[in-house]
Amino acid sequence: MEYSYKKSRHRGSFIFCAVILIAIGCGAAYAVRCSSDSDLHTSDQPVQVNKQYDERDKKNEEEDWRLVLVNRENPLNQTSDMELTELSNGQKVDTRIYPYLQKMFEDMRSEGIYPVVVSGYRTESEQQQIYNDKIAEFVADGLTEYEAKKEAERWVAIPGTSEHQLGLGVDINADGINSYGYEVYEWLEDNAHRYGFIHRYPDDKTDITGIANEPWHYRYVGQKAADEIHRRGICLEEYLEGK
Ligand SMILES: [Zn+2]
Repeated sequence: MEYSYKKSRHRGSFIFCAVILIAIGCGAAYAVRCSSDSDLHTSDQPVQVNKQYDERDKKNEEEDWRLVLVNRENPLNQTSDMELTELSNGQKVDTRIYPYLQKMFEDMRSEGIYPVVVSGYRTESEQQQIYNDKIAEFVADGLTEYEAKKEAERWVAIPGTSEHQLGLGVDINADGINSYGYEVYEWLEDNAHRYGFIHRYPDDKTDITGIANEPWHYRYVGQKAADEIHRRGICLEEYLEGK
């Protein structure tokens, strides 16, 4: 009798343990499902990179280097002493935006899209050259000097008013081998804000920006501003006006 009592108690313990183990297993499976769900939900969240420059300068947004407005009405302040980082193809960008650009490109490549910075930082004389070349192009097409200048200014910022001179504007295109331009533009339109970049000259804001839609031109403004600009469908001028 003694023996069978022990045996039945052992069986009872065994069943109890099995129930506990099944419960733990179900809990773990649920947790895994929840975490993968939340991964999906976080896909629109800001991306973390090693150097959190965004944590700096939060005290005074008006003096925030990331939100400097450069356009026709607000020419560049040439006194800025920026540190530049050279990319593998020789283009340069402001060192402070490099970690975000790098992370964005890595993530694009991991999704099979191959971008390249076709134009980053430009000196005043480089901007002047591009501006002159554009005018010459339209003159060659038969436009008068005045018409050519007006048309060129829809596409190329007047020297002294280009974000490329700021080091915070980049023209991003496909590498021309593995990806098409539209793939790069679409990806950037949907995701660039998570890295702190905005589509600076959208189609529906040309009356404010003065520049035609440029799906390749992205400007670093930091993740907080980029997220709001993207979410509200506004341009940088509108964002700063509301500050
Ligand atoms: Zn550009």
